[in-house]
Amino acid sequence: MQQARPTAPDVPFLDVGASYRELRDEIDAAVARVLSGGWYILGHEVEAFEREFAAYVGTAHCVAVGNGLEALHLTLRAMGIGRGDEVIVPANTYIATWLAVSHAGARVVPVEPDPRTYNLDPAATARAVTRRTKAILPVHLYGQPADMDPVMDVAARYGLWVLEDAAQAHGARYRGRRAGALGHAAAWSFYPTKNLGAFGDAGAVTTDDPALARRVRMLRSYGTTRKYVADVRGYNSRLDELQAAVLRVKLRRLDAWNARRAQIAAIYRARLAGSDVVLPFVPDWAQPCWHLFVIRTSRRDALRAHLTACGVETLVHYPVPPHLQGAYRRMRLPAGGLPVSEQLHREVVSLPMGPHLSDAQVQQVVDAVRAFSGQRVGAEPAAGR
Ligand SMILES: *Cc1c(COP(=O)(O)O)cnc(C)c1O
Repeated sequence: MQQARPTAPDVPFLDVGASYRELRDEIDAAVARVLSGGWYILGHEVEAFEREFAAYVGTAHCVAVGNGLEALHLTLRAMGIGRGDEVIVPANTYIATWLAVSHAGARVVPVEPDPRTYNLDPAATARAVTRRTKAILPVHLYGQPADMDPVMDVAARYGLWVLEDAAQAHGARYRGRRAGALGHAAAWSFYPTKNLGAFGDAGAVTTDDPALARRVRMLRSYGTTRKYVADVRGYNSRLDELQAAVLRVKLRRLDAWNARRAQIAAIYRARLAGSDVVLPFVPDWAQPCWHLFVIRTSRRDALRAHLTACGVETLVHYPVPPHLQGAYRRMRLPAGGLPVSEQLHREVVSLPMGPHLSDAQVQQVVDAVRAFSGQRVGAEPAAGR
């Protein structure tokens, strides 16, 4: 008798293998080229990817590293940030943003988000600056660009570094300029589920600052500029040739994949308008890359259960804010200490989003969310679309 398997959802949150199936021939050829070439770490593929990704983002330099966390950490080190320094971070972000600051030895100073965009609030950022502040670390959360011009103004006024956490922002634009080319440097992750994802861990730093690029390059490989001679105490955070070769193939598809994501986001926004969930707010200066499509409702857990029953898989980004996780217990920020963030973490839910969702799958999600809205006791009947 056949073993019963848990039934797969009709609409998976993200089909991570679909990009490989789409590009199988090109990727197989790239992998074979690396395997038979006999050079596996920091070689021609990495150099070519660094050139191509810098050109894509619009920066003078790109330094490939092992993952997104190390891209953040090494850049903070290269900026000279360490013990006794403070770095302003969003209260609501993936914990890696905070960990990078902590690993550099500096103190995280969380700032509450703009409640409409969920991104760093420039006014709150300015109020958080002290004599110890060395850097601001805005995150382009969910692929929506942060409001960078006022953040750069605050940084200029106080002489601070700005490091963008662009791990969710591949291809996003702010006032026409690409995310990753807006601050003094940007850290990227190519974790498999990102808009540009490797088949393993990978990351990069982009910057126009040649000295910063040189220091990150040194730090990623033991602090050496010449083989076997370390000038500073560096790390091992190098990119594999295999991952670089794969990323080069996928980079050529990124804009097309992002265009499909934008199409799906437009369908969600049009067809869920008037339902009782809060849809993403997109300022007129923002061109998101729709890494995630995040909606908000006070009945989040009930909505998720309903969607699961309808065959729609959802995730929560993120269920617990960093300051309430064990890793940051020593900060002694109690529950209720960052109320805007905490409310977001209770209410957000991410709908399926990815370039390989079919129109029928997108419609199934829409119908399921609308059915939930319609169940609400005493609610107005949903307007026809
Ligand atoms: C994914 C992610 C990171 C970390 O990237 P890794 O490659 O997983 O280390 C950092 N910040 C944000 C906002 C992310 O989404």
